[in-house]
Amino acid sequence: MSLIVQKYGGTSVGTPERIRNVARRILETQQAGNQVVAVVSAMAGVTNNLIKLADEVTGSAQPSEREMDVLLATGEQTTIALTAMALHSMGAKAVSLTGAQAGIVTDGVHTKARISNITPHGVHELLDAGNIVILAGFQGKTRDGNITTLGRGGSDLTAIAMAAAIDADLCQIYTDVDGVYTCDPRVVPGARKIDEISYDELLEMASSGSKVMQSRSVEFAKKFGVTFEVRSSLNQNPGTLVKEETMSMESVVIRGVSLERAQAKVTIGGVKDLPGTASRIFGAVAGANILVDMIVQNVSKTGITDISFTVPKDDVAKAEAALRPVLAELGEGVTLEAQDGIAKLSAVGIGMRSHSGVAAEMFKALADAGVNIEMISTSEIKISVTVAEGDIDRAANVVHEAFGLGAL
Ligand code: ADP
Ligand code: ASP
Ligand code: MG
Repeated sequence: MSLIVQKYGGTSVGTPERIRNVARRILETQQAGNQVVAVVSAMAGVTNNLIKLADEVTGSAQPSEREMDVLLATGEQTTIALTAMALHSMGAKAVSLTGAQAGIVTDGVHTKARISNITPHGVHELLDAGNIVILAGFQGKTRDGNITTLGRGGSDLTAIAMAAAIDADLCQIYTDVDGVYTCDPRVVPGARKIDEISYDELLEMASSGSKVMQSRSVEFAKKFGVTFEVRSSLNQNPGTLVKEETMSMESVVIRGVSLERAQAKVTIGGVKDLPGTASRIFGAVAGANILVDMIVQNVSKTGITDISFTVPKDDVAKAEAALRPVLAELGEGVTLEAQDGIAKLSAVGIGMRSHSGVAAEMFKALADAGVNIEMISTSEIKISVTVAEGDIDRAANVVHEAFGLGAL
């Protein structure tokens, strides 16, 4: 008998019929002689609607993040109950659990909480009594009992973390595509499903916009060595296996291309080129729990320089508020400018480590397509550029093509 954790995302449970489909699949897995913990997300669109409602009742004020979590957790709580009911109607034994009931304890950073520990005693007892456990994704509680959520896409993290905590034999992430593709198939129609991908590659892809997996969940899987499979809830096709890298994986130079829309560039101009400047700026942004992405500092000729960085467009107001007090400290003439309408394109592959000329190839493909590159950053296994948001689909297609990713 195997212990299996399955996760079904929002589209997979998006309608009553889809919930029944998921319930059938879960039941079949149990009937094949396994114990099953099924993590479910909010039904498609529900989380976005809840966020919209919060905006509507607060007007121009920011909603309280604690209350935001109380609100957002209801999305998943609805789905666990409905999935358990669907299973009951099929004659199965099933019990739904919220994140808190399953012992998922997090820190207190509301809306982006990190799991600090999981004590899943109740889960084992329920499984041993023959139940299917339906677990709410995306949520936990703090030590003092406040409801938290784990950041957008956080049900992936619930599944991976629970698989690690109960030492599951298998972790399957069911979604609305057949697996991880060489690029988002909605943008690049010729994208191909990847059979195997390393944690590091998927982590880079996820953190640069391939939202098929939440990046923090991949980070967690790597840390705890949780091998998992991404596959479709709508068919039986084999998916993508995500695991520690192997020698053969290195023969592929570029594994995939990611894109991220709705980015903004923040530029702090006229700062003195002195020790401590960057530390103050990024200390303030980090203090507001904003993830900074690409950072560029110009060479100073006169002792004065500019520092630019990208943040999600939605975080610009928060970043500006966090930086305002710092600007005054940095001296007179320091300016802050924010520009949105930017998107990021990244090419990722562990094989890049031992190949030169990859960046040049990417830049040539973009140049030939007349796409202007605004910022560039590289890591050992990733090259990212920012382009105008209106160019991003074309940019993704030409770079995907240039690296031959669609070819079989
Ligand atoms: P779920 O609700 O199951 O968590 P998501 O919407 O979060 O599903 O993720 C699946 C979606 O991710 C796909 O429909 C696809 O459009 C998008 N996506 C982005 N990049 C990729 C990629 N490289 N491979 C597969 N899907 C991708
Ligand atoms: N419902 C949450 C979201 O939409 C979590 C998830 O789907 O993974 O972000
Ligand atoms: Mg998701």
